[in-house]
Amino acid sequence: MEENLTKENQNVNEGSKKNTNKKNFNKKKKLNRNFSKNKNNSNNQGNQNIQNQSNEPSVKKVQKKNVSILDKKVKKQVMKSKPVKKKRTLDETLEDQFFLKEDFSFKKSKLKIIPLGGIEEIGKNITVFEYEDEIVIVDCGIAFPEEDMLGIDLVIPDFTYLVNNQKKIRGLVITHGHEDHIGSIAYLLKQINVPIYATKLTIGLIKNKLEEHRLLNIAQLNIVSQGDIIDLGKYFKVEFIRSCHSIPDSVALAIHTPAGVVVHTGDFKIDYTPIDDQKIDLGRLAELGNKGVLALLSDSTNAERKGYTMSESTVGEVFNRLFTNCKKRIVVATFASNMHRVQQIVNSAVANNRKIAVCGRSMINMIQTSIDLGYIHAPKNTFIDIDLLKNYNDDQLVIITTGSQGEPMSALTRMATGEHRKVNINSNDLVIISATPIPGNEKFVARVIDDLMKIGAEVVYSSLDDVHVSGHACQEEQKLMLSLVRPKYFIPVHGEYRQLVAHRNTARIMGIPAENIILMKNGKILEINENDAKLTGSVTNGSVFIDGLGVGDVGNIVIRDRQHLSQNGLIIVVLTMNKSGAVVAGPDVISRGFVYVRESESLMDDVKHLLNTEITKCLESGNTDWSSIKTTIKESLKTFIYQQTKRNPMILPVIMEVD
Ligand SMILES: [Zn+2]
Ligand SMILES: [Zn+2]
Repeated sequence: MEENLTKENQNVNEGSKKNTNKKNFNKKKKLNRNFSKNKNNSNNQGNQNIQNQSNEPSVKKVQKKNVSILDKKVKKQVMKSKPVKKKRTLDETLEDQFFLKEDFSFKKSKLKIIPLGGIEEIGKNITVFEYEDEIVIVDCGIAFPEEDMLGIDLVIPDFTYLVNNQKKIRGLVITHGHEDHIGSIAYLLKQINVPIYATKLTIGLIKNKLEEHRLLNIAQLNIVSQGDIIDLGKYFKVEFIRSCHSIPDSVALAIHTPAGVVVHTGDFKIDYTPIDDQKIDLGRLAELGNKGVLALLSDSTNAERKGYTMSESTVGEVFNRLFTNCKKRIVVATFASNMHRVQQIVNSAVANNRKIAVCGRSMINMIQTSIDLGYIHAPKNTFIDIDLLKNYNDDQLVIITTGSQGEPMSALTRMATGEHRKVNINSNDLVIISATPIPGNEKFVARVIDDLMKIGAEVVYSSLDDVHVSGHACQEEQKLMLSLVRPKYFIPVHGEYRQLVAHRNTARIMGIPAENIILMKNGKILEINENDAKLTGSVTNGSVFIDGLGVGDVGNIVIRDRQHLSQNGLIIVVLTMNKSGAVVAGPDVISRGFVYVRESESLMDDVKHLLNTEITKCLESGNTDWSSIKTTIKESLKTFIYQQTKRNPMILPVIMEVD
């Protein structure tokens, strides 16, 4: 805005030279006011008249109107030789906001909001805010692969749109340090280097990721504090509002643009007794609401759930009850990302004179970073090395571990199956699973609980006791957010389709008109300002698969093959031919995952017999073209095998040539 002002000054300088007659200038100002009124009432006749009178194209007029509104400020600055640069207070920024609103209300530019991920899915959250030639990105996360994405480690957003528009990008702003918000930053930075803005813990966690990818030396990391407002480019001001979630240092964002203020909640819950006493800044959200918010993008994860999410501190009370007078060793499994939960386990352990050992790479990294940056508080020597477990009695120990989702390779699963090298579960263990299964993981979690119980451990999980609460807002909290922010337009984000729909229904109950609630889709462009909001097109978007070191080299075709192979197995037919087209050796038939060959000898003999017949037929008809021989092999084998077995293995003919 400062830059803007300076530019305006120059315009005015030139303008006032031309308009030496001040009265004239004022007269025009009046006319322009009329013009705007008429336009508001969409009175075309009026517009026409005034346009004729002033005999100038309308765009210019709007510019002049800007000038007139800024008149006082401008005059002040024109008198000084150099433009004044000073740090703005929040109020001034807001004041600007109002100027901006009036200034730009007839300007053509609208704010574009383009989600590249996070809509109709849980994960890979990333949203583009674009105003004229500037872009600000919010979050850059990963998704975990679906069950049918065989062999895929991670899923990241398609960055094509950002790569193609990299000159416009002014910054990447991150709401909090969860994988679904920071997980694909490294992959973005490998394509384009953009400055990153986030709070201290979030930056710490991003650093860990970038270090793994050896990108730390090129990254432009900027630490902001809750409450800060930063300028990104000439159009965007981004305000970081203290929020509350399952990880410390979370923020909601107020994105101030010439088209209006957009509030992006990030992931949030409204916890009046958060364990770090960092309450969500409801006052600021209300203040923004009072001033006028163009659009609200809000977390829909728990939109189907009525009521309120319980406070995180209620879990601490349950831990205290379970820990007090417990003679057993205690093992607690939770999400590595839930640092508030970890803090409460630490609190209960310390209160009961227990030492803590940590299992699982992600848990160790997360806790280490949080301790280093001062986000987990524990007396010295509370944490011990996992190798020192044997030096303590069971009632002096707590083990914090990953695996609350029963993930097959996780530490808890390996403990449950007796495959963990350091921890053997026995009947003197109390295992607390402090999480609920994410949909799709129920079976894994159930199996782990069964295995632990079979060993004789006592297991406490969320169906038995209140050892978990969500980090996301339920309906009543979402209503509070809506009633404080009072947006003109509402855009539910961060959820599957049904959750977005549930959130829309909540907004409808709150009185937001149906036409002002926009269900987005990834890649769609929403163009928005005070007057209207329209979906105007779409940009390249989608999922890019990460498999090992490969980024995007595994696409739908490969996945389809993997699915085919995994469900039906493979038959390879090898045929050796000489240059004159005679079969020298084979056909040999090799199969994997189709039938157990030793018990299916007669079937395999029949297969060879069939192939011999078909190949001979083919050659005798003078057809020595390899591709048609391959097709013959495929087609005849496919039909035969299906008739015999009702199975559809993948068939791979290989022809080798010898001299
Ligand atoms: Zn989160
Ligand atoms: Zn999230």
